[in-house]
Amino acid sequence: MNLDDLRRWDKDHVWHAFTQMAEYEPLLIQSAHGCTLVDVDGREFIDGVSSLWCNLHGHRHPKLDAAIRRQLEQVAHVTLLGMAHPTTVRLARKLVEIAPRGLNHVFFSDSGATAVEVALKMAFQYWKQTRRASEGASLEKSKYLAFENAYHGDTLGSVSVGGVARFHEMFQPLLFDVVRLPAPDMYRVPPGVTRQTACGHYLAQFEAAIREYHEELAAVVIEPLVQCAAGMLMHPPGFLRGVREITRRYDVLLIADEVAVGMGRTGRMFACEHEGVSPDFLCLAKGLTGGYLPLAATLATDEIYNAFLGAYAESKTFFHGHTYGGNPLGAAIALATLEVFEKERTLEQLGPKVERLREHLARIAEHQHVGDVRQRGLIAGIELVRGRAAKEPYPWSERRGQRVCDHALSEGVWLRPLGNVVVIFPPLAISLAEIDRICGAVERGIDRTMTA
Ligand code: PLP
Repeated sequence: MNLDDLRRWDKDHVWHAFTQMAEYEPLLIQSAHGCTLVDVDGREFIDGVSSLWCNLHGHRHPKLDAAIRRQLEQVAHVTLLGMAHPTTVRLARKLVEIAPRGLNHVFFSDSGATAVEVALKMAFQYWKQTRRASEGASLEKSKYLAFENAYHGDTLGSVSVGGVARFHEMFQPLLFDVVRLPAPDMYRVPPGVTRQTACGHYLAQFEAAIREYHEELAAVVIEPLVQCAAGMLMHPPGFLRGVREITRRYDVLLIADEVAVGMGRTGRMFACEHEGVSPDFLCLAKGLTGGYLPLAATLATDEIYNAFLGAYAESKTFFHGHTYGGNPLGAAIALATLEVFEKERTLEQLGPKVERLREHLARIAEHQHVGDVRQRGLIAGIELVRGRAAKEPYPWSERRGQRVCDHALSEGVWLRPLGNVVVIFPPLAISLAEIDRICGAVERGIDRTMTA
């Protein structure tokens, strides 16, 4: 195969996600092993963002590769519309066993956006089917509360609850209204608020909004602990627990979108575990298959599930589905991913890696154009600012984060920034030496590109 042809066809025919095609320069990855990507010219790059936040145990893991082959010898795909495959059933059982308590029912789909979309629609339908006029409810529970800078995927429902202006503003006329609150950001706290008082401040604001709108609210949608696409924006400790307490008190459902933070990224299997929280819905995708195949899951409680039961003619069925939801190949790889967590004691091995990343970040934080470094488990963001004191951002069009990542690429480290935030989000299988290489490349990238 002529590589020049391939590059030309890539530019001519492949319309890349979140990419300005007029500026796109093809980077064709031929293969991968462990945490290394290999391009068609044989150049190697460390996969510093887990192939967009989904790879966990490394590429071409023998156990994961074998699980797909085994499943292929049975069947590649069976629908979940009215039937099932044993592998998919076993995965549902396993997810229920490891998820926060009470989430006993699994609805499968195929991406993070659909996992959230499913939860939004289920929450809406749940209230339709459980609220009676005799309860004195004057308002329909059909709204959602979401946070500024939230990101829940790119379908119109998930964009409606999303709040990243640069991605979502364009589509505003197509979206439904949500009750929007400021993101509980630990870096840019409002005047008069400190990191120590931030949790109380944001929770008071949250409770005030819930008090005002609870009769209309079907659900609150939250990315637990870290709003990743917002630039790894970290919530104050205790915020999630508070949100759970308040939503329970006011009878509003809680949708935890763990598409990015779930599956071990924060150091626990699920971010909700850090604060002892059981949501009403838990959305999983990305790392669910170790970064191998598109599979997503929306877990729900008995209370939600039971509201959908009845005779067919009552029309309580959840009329929603995706052709490949629960695909057995995806389910096989998800089961194998969870098995590797147990066999390789993946979570127990994370401590030194998290610590090594922390040490590097502490050093990088000293740079005059680094405003903030933030980390949770193996998720990290380095925010570049024009002036540290005023936390003044660079105009997004200057692509400061991208410049640092371009430098890292020249050192064999592949990263993808979020505006002015350099993101480090490696597979859990990353080695200490690879963390050193990623952070070294980032530091030199900042030194070389941020002097102006
Ligand atoms: N939810 C969160 C928190 C995410 O970070 C993302 C993707 O980054 C999504 C949902 C959407 O996932 P997908 O791209 O698989 O639709």
